[in-house]
Amino acid sequence: MDCLFCKIIEGSIPSKKVFENDRVLAFHDIQPAAPVHILIIPKKHIPTMNDVTEEDDALMAEIFSVARHIAKEQGIDESGYRLVNNCNAEGGQVVYHLHLHLLGGHQMKSLAG
Ligand code: AMP
Ligand code: ZN
Repeated sequence: MDCLFCKIIEGSIPSKKVFENDRVLAFHDIQPAAPVHILIIPKKHIPTMNDVTEEDDALMAEIFSVARHIAKEQGIDESGYRLVNNCNAEGGQVVYHLHLHLLGGHQMKSLAG
């Protein structure tokens, strides 16, 4: 499969892993947009948020659970963090394998401006 994140899961492309189990992988973003910038992905190849189905309910819950766990481990649970999913072109999605960005470690601007 010609998918960057599937290759990271396989190990044919290296990554700086911070969490892994049979269903979920998390690793440092190669081009961090914040002091903490970690990507959390399902091992199942799901291209976008639009492709998530009810079958994936437990998996989605687990991805959020892993995000909470990593935020705590990184010491940003109390200071705060942002979880982002970019969906499709106007959402700014570049890699078409579902992922959550965990961003933190500095003050972020409110989206309300
Ligand atoms: P998105 O724009 O939401 O699709 O985000 C894709 C993210 O993947 C970007 O933040 C990239 O910096 C990141 N990225 C691209 N290639 C790699 C890589 N080899 N290892 C880690 N992160 C990557
Ligand atoms: Zn993939």
